[in-house]
Amino acid sequence: MTIIETEYKWSIPLVKRSKTNGVVLHHAAAESCTAEDIHEWHLAKGWAGIGYHFFVSKEGSVYRGRPIDTVGAHTNGRNYDTIGICFEGNFEDEEMPETQVNSGVELVSWLLELYPQITKITKHMEHNATSCPGKNFPFDRIKNNGKSKEIKGVLELFAEPLYISSTAEKKSAVITGTYYLWSDEVVRGRVKITNLPGNIGKAGQVTGWISAAAVKLSSTIHPVLWGDTLGEIAKRYGTTVSKIVDANKAKYPNITADYIVAGWTLVIPQ
Ligand SMILES: [Zn+2]
Repeated sequence: MTIIETEYKWSIPLVKRSKTNGVVLHHAAAESCTAEDIHEWHLAKGWAGIGYHFFVSKEGSVYRGRPIDTVGAHTNGRNYDTIGICFEGNFEDEEMPETQVNSGVELVSWLLELYPQITKITKHMEHNATSCPGKNFPFDRIKNNGKSKEIKGVLELFAEPLYISSTAEKKSAVITGTYYLWSDEVVRGRVKITNLPGNIGKAGQVTGWISAAAVKLSSTIHPVLWGDTLGEIAKRYGTTVSKIVDANKAKYPNITADYIVAGWTLVIPQ
């Protein structure tokens, strides 16, 4: 990851950030600008200087903003635990050039490696009343490493994990979580072990790297909403009511073809 270092003069001393739970993506809302321009704009607002930690130019260069371990000024209410990235351009009107998308993907991937505890990559508009980063911003591509598919459901490890950071080094672990393709080889995600005695609950979350070849989606999860019926759910997933009832009896003993409860998380067999 090549980061272009820039010398900034901060008007107020920066403060170290004690937590890092997310990355927030922004656009500059300006067709053409530099990291230095943003530094000047933010100084003019009475801030310490550029509020973002990184600036990605249309040519795909990545510039340093605030030092990565300091509190930024980019997302009201979330500066204390997020890293802010700004992309040159106004993606309310324009489309992002491929080189800039690729640099965004690379930067986000690098940050996820640097901070494995990051659970959320979000758009500024998810936190504050703003259209930032614009309706044309290629959020899914940058968030998911360009080629990923998010999988939500029960994943079964059917080969040895390539690496898993804490527990569950067992083939039979049933894990739930959100995964995306990190590369063609590796799936990355945060998983929760649901079937290893001794690890249920207490082992909880593990973060790790698992070979993509070692996981398969065995079933999906449907959170029951008020008003759902099993008939409709079965139809939606192309399965039958009795298959769903059978798959969930152990977890919800009082489930019947006519009885489900909002808030249950049903396993939908494939
Ligand atoms: Zn923003």
